[in-house]
Amino acid sequence: MPPLYTKIIKDNHLSNTKSRRTLFKILNQQSQPVSIRRIVNNALPFMNKSTAYRILNVFDEAGIINLTYAGWKQTVELSDTFKGHHHHISCIDCGQIIAFEETHDLVEQLRLVSLKYQFKATSHSLELRGICAHCSQNIT
Ligand SMILES: [Zn+2]
Ligand SMILES: [Zn+2]
Repeated sequence: MPPLYTKIIKDNHLSNTKSRRTLFKILNQQSQPVSIRRIVNNALPFMNKSTAYRILNVFDEAGIINLTYAGWKQTVELSDTFKGHHHHISCIDCGQIIAFEETHDLVEQLRLVSLKYQFKATSHSLELRGICAHCSQNIT
């Protein structure tokens, strides 16, 4: 297990159970955000449904996972702590999700917005929705 995982489990006074480790491994295998249902289904050979949902809830509270939306569909992935800070582009047609890192300029713009409203931003989320290159070719 990644030392970071063990540390977070410890810091949150959670017990380091096998089910939790298994669910973490499943999340760690995903290359892009996936639906909660899919994660739970992947976990089913190893634990029952309610255990999987309960662990996701614990992971959410401990900051191990990040719940995001791809369009109207709620998805889950490991948090920035594990994946690094990034955002997503999602295709409303085929559902493809592409991760991108924000530019320095974008970070600066966000900082200026916070400054303008004397707002201390602790996090932000951003999603670009639209049609991917592959799907836009199919339309024409
Ligand atoms: Zn960002
Ligand atoms: Zn597409």
